[in-house]
Amino acid sequence: MSTITTTDLEAAVEDAAAYLYVWALKDIPQDLRDALADAATRETSVPGQRVLQTILKNVTVAETEKNLVCQDTGIAVYTCRVGEHFPLHPARIYAALKTGTERATVEHPLRSNAVHTITRENTGPNTGYRLPIVHWEFIPDWDGLDVKCVPKGSGSENMSFLKMCVPADGVKGIKQFVLESIVGAGGKPCPPGIVGVGIGGSADYAMYLAKEAIARPIGTRNPDPHVAELEDELFALLNETGIGPMGLGGDVTVLQCHIEHADTHMTLNPVAVNYQCWAARRASAHVGPNGEVEYDREF
Ligand code: SF4
Repeated sequence: MSTITTTDLEAAVEDAAAYLYVWALKDIPQDLRDALADAATRETSVPGQRVLQTILKNVTVAETEKNLVCQDTGIAVYTCRVGEHFPLHPARIYAALKTGTERATVEHPLRSNAVHTITRENTGPNTGYRLPIVHWEFIPDWDGLDVKCVPKGSGSENMSFLKMCVPADGVKGIKQFVLESIVGAGGKPCPPGIVGVGIGGSADYAMYLAKEAIARPIGTRNPDPHVAELEDELFALLNETGIGPMGLGGDVTVLQCHIEHADTHMTLNPVAVNYQCWAARRASAHVGPNGEVEYDREF
């Protein structure tokens, strides 16, 4: 009996992954659409305005034609929140996410981006050794599973930066590094997008936090008022850089700046920056213990 339940549940998670990957690539969330439309009302430069109008048209055409918003189908990054009573082991959840990613790639079909990191040989349908990438969170006293898919394009992922600031650098050092990173990135990450900043923890965890930050709905604020204040300040400063849409100059360089943080060692002050381009794709599903699936933008 438990074997049948497990198998059905694995199939449900696989179906969810296959659906989420394609859904995220085709149909961007409403908060992103609103942020892009709002950016177009603020942009005063002619090239910047042209870029934003082209992006908005792109989104509409993708919807009408039921096609992708960008040719770069990215690498599939999933975040899983697993309830402690969810009756499918994380090893089987991972297997289902992998098979779902492969099915989406073959069945749609999607461009296959995954390669061996040394030989550069294509590894197949957007999966490979340690691909897709899955982040895990385990929730006590719960029997559900939430899955979020964030396909990450290379243009924006290439613009990821880490600095081990020292505590003496303080918040000033954090701000300086974020600004230097985004100014250095210029038009490469397809701006305007979301700047994700991870501060604290350790080197690896700071980058993980930066990745979490880009997956939040646009304009949400960190519950910690000190961090939220820094989000506001960096958002304003980043838009004063004049980089503008696609780096062609203008008022709108970023749609938002989100920060996630963790407490850290008294002699550490890590800062990570992860950029999410204007095609800030994300989609989520909730899977119940009996295999029922609800699709939503957030969990
Ligand atoms: S960075 Fe984003 S918008 Fe630019 S090519 Fe990659 S996925 Fe597309």
